[in-house]
Amino acid sequence: MIVKTDVLIIGAGGAGARAAIEASKNEKLRILLLNQGPLGRSGLTSMANGGMQWVSHPEDSFEDHFRDVVRIGCYLNEQNLVECLAREAPERAEELIAWGAKVFMEGGRLFFTDPRGSGASHPRGHYIPGVTYMAALKGELERHENIFIREDSLATCLFADEGRVIGASVLDIRTGEVLAVQSKAVVLAAGGLGELFPHSSNTPFGLRGHASGMGYALAYHAGAELIDMEMVQFTGQQLYPPWLLGNPALLSIMCGGEYRNALGNEYMKLPQPRDVIQRLAYREIKEGRGTPRGGVYIDLSVSPLPSAEIERQLQKALGGDIARERWNLIKAMSVDDPDPKHWKVEFTPGGAHFFMGGVRINERCETNLYGLFAAGEVAGGVHGANRMGGNALTDIVVFGRRAGKYAAEYASWAEWIAPDQGLVRQENERLHGFFRPDGVSGRAIRDRIGSFMAEYMGVARTEDEMKKALSEIASLKAELPRLRAPGGKRFNLGWVEAIEVPYMLDVAEMMTLSALSRRESRGAHFREDFPDTDPRWLKHTRVRKAGTAMQVDTAPVTITTLNPGG
Ligand SMILES: Cc1cc2nc3c(=O)[nH]c(=O)nc-3n(C[C@H](O)[C@H](O)[C@H](O)COP(=O)(O)OP(=O)(O)OC[C@H]3O[C@@H](n4cnc5c(N)ncnc54)[C@H](O)[C@@H]3O)c2cc1C
Repeated sequence: MIVKTDVLIIGAGGAGARAAIEASKNEKLRILLLNQGPLGRSGLTSMANGGMQWVSHPEDSFEDHFRDVVRIGCYLNEQNLVECLAREAPERAEELIAWGAKVFMEGGRLFFTDPRGSGASHPRGHYIPGVTYMAALKGELERHENIFIREDSLATCLFADEGRVIGASVLDIRTGEVLAVQSKAVVLAAGGLGELFPHSSNTPFGLRGHASGMGYALAYHAGAELIDMEMVQFTGQQLYPPWLLGNPALLSIMCGGEYRNALGNEYMKLPQPRDVIQRLAYREIKEGRGTPRGGVYIDLSVSPLPSAEIERQLQKALGGDIARERWNLIKAMSVDDPDPKHWKVEFTPGGAHFFMGGVRINERCETNLYGLFAAGEVAGGVHGANRMGGNALTDIVVFGRRAGKYAAEYASWAEWIAPDQGLVRQENERLHGFFRPDGVSGRAIRDRIGSFMAEYMGVARTEDEMKKALSEIASLKAELPRLRAPGGKRFNLGWVEAIEVPYMLDVAEMMTLSALSRRESRGAHFREDFPDTDPRWLKHTRVRKAGTAMQVDTAPVTITTLNPGG
């Protein structure tokens, strides 16, 4: 079946939803918004704790917001994009609140999170829990009659014609039908890639956040350029109490705890950026000072706060009223001793949280391919080598809006081009080719991807280990002709996993090749064999498809006003 639309948006998290709302302002256009899962219950936006940065404090300024993001990003940010982020954030936040997002208030004023949690130079972090953020966008989407939403629909490849993206192949997961969507403009807003790692905040309690990284691979195969694919932001994986989720840095700041190793020694003082927190915890564990569970801990017994206040802060860190209501249940299930002053909040580094790299865009969210726009976590360049906490929720509405605006502008004059019927047939056959009598399941390969990515591409990397990752990738790629989907076609999530797996291997390869080529440590990319930051490496790694080969080289960083050290 062929479906025609003016603007196709792939991914309906915060970035995709915001893009759809903006594009729909041109009422002559038809906007098709696809999502792999149910709207508002798939993707990372609705999971977000809710820290969102925008300038609202009287002592704060756009210049300071810009400078903080670039410094924490280790100067690898595209500064033209960071300028958009800082300047447009307040307007985007006001808009979300007007659409019904619930922002935390204290004493009738906007509540600020402790700036030491993110490293901001002024109070700038506000709280809009992800569920209410997404609910506001969903409500607004429903008000626009020219937005058509298809849930449980997976884009499986982009159709390109001479450097222009002209549509996509889409699997309707509910019926098993494959559609060819013809579109004048395509916005890629397919989110992140945490599912490549076995421990990730993107897959809480083993649930899927639909962050397989497929968006990066779709763009790559269509001919898009991707940058900084080595830059994975890791966070602490909670070991104890097991149900207590949250950013360890924020927890210890809010509760006044100290970071200790198994010997009881304080090994780090806050505030520190997220990459440093990960690295120092990794060092303690690697050098034999980890706890029996394999972690380090935040000691709350030294907190100057009374137990009741620590509890209040921990509840806050869980985010939102629902968590607060369930607090007693969470506590009863997690700990033997009810007094938080007796808890050692234990975590281990290496949980994949966010991805700074991605599809290369300019301020109009254009990629190097005509007709292809990208926004949100799938796009690279905004956060450089390390994302400052609370700026992803800002990023997705700022660049979601920009992608929608410029995609609509493009679609208002561009012509449709019909995809080559041979390619449409070929993609259909590829998807149905996974139904073979025997072979290896997508799940089995995903588990193996997770194992080697955690072992060789985690918090600390070396050339030898990354080469081992490449050889694992090659041997798993050799198994792909045996990749098998079980069962029938309707709502077959085993089929979806089989479709994702070859793309996940491509993304693992892009990440590993980029990480191998960056022979320095910068932000989230830490190489034990090149532990220092090298000023000659103030450049992006860039990945492109060259024929059937994956080509990695470098590209300059856009510096507008802030030079390194400035
Ligand atoms: C636990 C957690 C807490 C966080 N807390 C914060 C926070 O407090 N502050 C902050 O700033 N950031 C936070 N983040 C990061 C932030 O939530 C994400 O970076 C952001 O929401 C990503 O938005 P997005 O629209 O780019 O992607 P998503 O919201 O992930 O949406 C992408 C959508 O694309 C769909 N999709 C993927 N592939 C396809 C395909 N092939 N076809 C069709 N659809 C597809 C998925 O179903 C998904 O719905 C947090 C992240 C996590 C995981």
